[in-house]
Amino acid sequence: MGQGYPKLIVDMKKIRRNSQIITEMCKRESIDVACVIKGYNGIPSVAEEMAKSGCSQLASSRMEQIKEIKLRGFGIDTLLLRIPMMSEVEEVVKYADISLNSEKIMLEKLNEVSKQYQVRHRVILMRDLGDLREGIYERDALTNLAVYVENKLDNLILEGIGSNLSCYGSIMPTEENLNELVENAMDIENAIGRELKTISGGGTSTLPLLHRNKLPQRINHLRIGEAIICALDLPLYWDTTIEGLEAGVFSLVAEIVEIQTKPSYPVGIRCVNAFGEKPEYEDKGVRLRAILAIGNKDVGSYTTLIPRDEGIELVGASSDHLILDIENAPRDYHLGDLLTFDLFYQGVLFSAENGHMNIELKY
Ligand SMILES: *Cc1c(COP(=O)(O)O)cnc(C)c1O
Repeated sequence: MGQGYPKLIVDMKKIRRNSQIITEMCKRESIDVACVIKGYNGIPSVAEEMAKSGCSQLASSRMEQIKEIKLRGFGIDTLLLRIPMMSEVEEVVKYADISLNSEKIMLEKLNEVSKQYQVRHRVILMRDLGDLREGIYERDALTNLAVYVENKLDNLILEGIGSNLSCYGSIMPTEENLNELVENAMDIENAIGRELKTISGGGTSTLPLLHRNKLPQRINHLRIGEAIICALDLPLYWDTTIEGLEAGVFSLVAEIVEIQTKPSYPVGIRCVNAFGEKPEYEDKGVRLRAILAIGNKDVGSYTTLIPRDEGIELVGASSDHLILDIENAPRDYHLGDLLTFDLFYQGVLFSAENGHMNIELKY
């Protein structure tokens, strides 16, 4: 962690409250929650707050974060979200209690390594319901794989099945596609003669169904990140407001390094910008502009920033400079002033990952 600015501030009260609201809302419907820590680089003390919410697991796509959580001994199960790499199987078996899987060869490898370590690793098999990222596409193929794991891979425990939506293909979770998951689970249960412990019905984008009482009964597990750490997507894209959830768990503070009045339309012969793109520019005449010492390197894309001050327009950014139009801002800005931004998911993801970022936990 670095010093000075930009500075990423974590509101620990808010993350604790948001985690609690989500886990309690799910508990009321007998749904277990895996709190997802990958969005903020798994910062251990922040993850610890999530763990206190009563969730069932802490989950990440990255093995190094799972390992860190395990070694800190928060006394909570860990769930690896990204289907494992062959090169990390030993770590998976040692540090992840559960992993999501879609490949028979990987399951055989996990079984073999679990045997070496004399453990029984728990697996959730993934079904692709049309979003076309990870998972087995055909119902019967998943059933057959589940039967194989149950009967042949003695060092694995078939924990259940799951699915992931609205990631690659932008496909919404619906009663229909999640019922397909439930029916798949029931096929498996008939074939193996016992109930599956877990039917994992997705992430934040499944919460609107739960909120509207439309989630198929047997879905009993969700993996939630965004709704806790940003809490912006549900009201913005899903027309869903969950009582008490608050945005602004993570905010970013940056410093003004230039304030000058300039034309808004670039002057001269135009080629490409810092990233090889040819953006459109709007001519708004001469405007008062501020440059902040922060850029796309810190946040991925500057469009992930939401200024807390009124009357500010994000104009553009290169790697290390952010340009703001402050012509209509009520506040009178000076060199060295600090501005605070809320962050969409991408902004949290990049800034928490940036090794030079100054991170402050506010209790
Ligand atoms: C990241 C991830 C999640 C969490 O998604 P959110 O939208 O942040 O709730 C859930 N499941 C898998 C497999 C993921 O990779």
